[in-house]
Amino acid sequence: MRQGELLYTGKAKSVYRTDEEGVLMVEFRDDITAFDGGKKDVLTKKGSFNAGVSAFLFRRLQEEGVLTHFLGMVDESKMLVHALEMVPIEVIVRNVAAGSMVRKYPIAEGTPLDPPVIVMDYKDDTRHDPMLNDELIIALRLLSPGELNRVKEDALKVNRFLSRFFDSLGITLVDFKMEFGKLNGEIVLGDEISMDSMRLWDKNTGESLDKDVYRFSKGDVISAYRRVAEKILASGEQQEIRGSTGIMTKNPEGVKDIMSEDKLEEEILDWVRDYAREKGWRLNPEEKKLSVVIRGLARNQKKFGHRYCPCRLRSGDTEKDKSIICPCIFHEEEVRDQGSCHCNLYYQK
Ligand code: SF4
Repeated sequence: MRQGELLYTGKAKSVYRTDEEGVLMVEFRDDITAFDGGKKDVLTKKGSFNAGVSAFLFRRLQEEGVLTHFLGMVDESKMLVHALEMVPIEVIVRNVAAGSMVRKYPIAEGTPLDPPVIVMDYKDDTRHDPMLNDELIIALRLLSPGELNRVKEDALKVNRFLSRFFDSLGITLVDFKMEFGKLNGEIVLGDEISMDSMRLWDKNTGESLDKDVYRFSKGDVISAYRRVAEKILASGEQQEIRGSTGIMTKNPEGVKDIMSEDKLEEEILDWVRDYAREKGWRLNPEEKKLSVVIRGLARNQKKFGHRYCPCRLRSGDTEKDKSIICPCIFHEEEVRDQGSCHCNLYYQK
């Protein structure tokens, strides 16, 4: 896929058109800014750490059933995404009091927030992102009441997943920011989930592992970002190993689920292998990437009754979505012109 015209440059990311309708390329740059652009620097590798972490978390969230704009990586700092109609709202979920919450309200830093607090700000630097409430969101026609509920549900679902995930890495997810957009009438998680958009504390030492290190000159920003990226990557390898060896949970229901998922994945793998052989192609030689696609197909088969493409969004219209049941209507042209299908499942020999 070719990078096209530059559409937008933000504080740390640039967005380009591509030669595929509805697909954009996001470049995570090494720029870092704080205090509405009052503090600025360029830190080598920062863009690739944020891109890698975002890609990993978007993939995991997709596996949890959250719709995200993520399609795949072009290189270590460039990501392909669905073009969304962005909603100008920053959705912040707070699990522990910190940052502006402590500055604005009578609450001590570090106070746990249970249930978590959702805050929504109107995204506008010139107005310093004023806080919204439900009525203002409806009055400003930013979201309909149904869409607002969906955003809140998704925000809490993402928070549950990320909080558990970071906890397993010895990190507290203090708070984080999300942005959502719309695609074919669906609410879809966009933007990024990275050390620039999350507040992360080491569970044992309380040390910051996020952009606060830069904001408040607390130490070496890149080594904090690297630490988080490396922990996440190491956990990904363990999860891949767990997935392929089928290690079970203690819960009998869970065992049943994992076993049947494994069986379905095996069945799908046999089927895609046969199809590749028939076409004179091969499957993705990178085992981890191959298993992510197979798992996505199995998940869609279980959830929707069809092997919908795991890297394309369903429109919800059954007739229209027939075009993205694997093998989708696009795959032959993609393998011929680009060397592989969109999900990097089938490859030319
Ligand atoms: S063939 Fe199409 S549907 Fe199947 S994995 Fe590739 S891109 Fe997705």
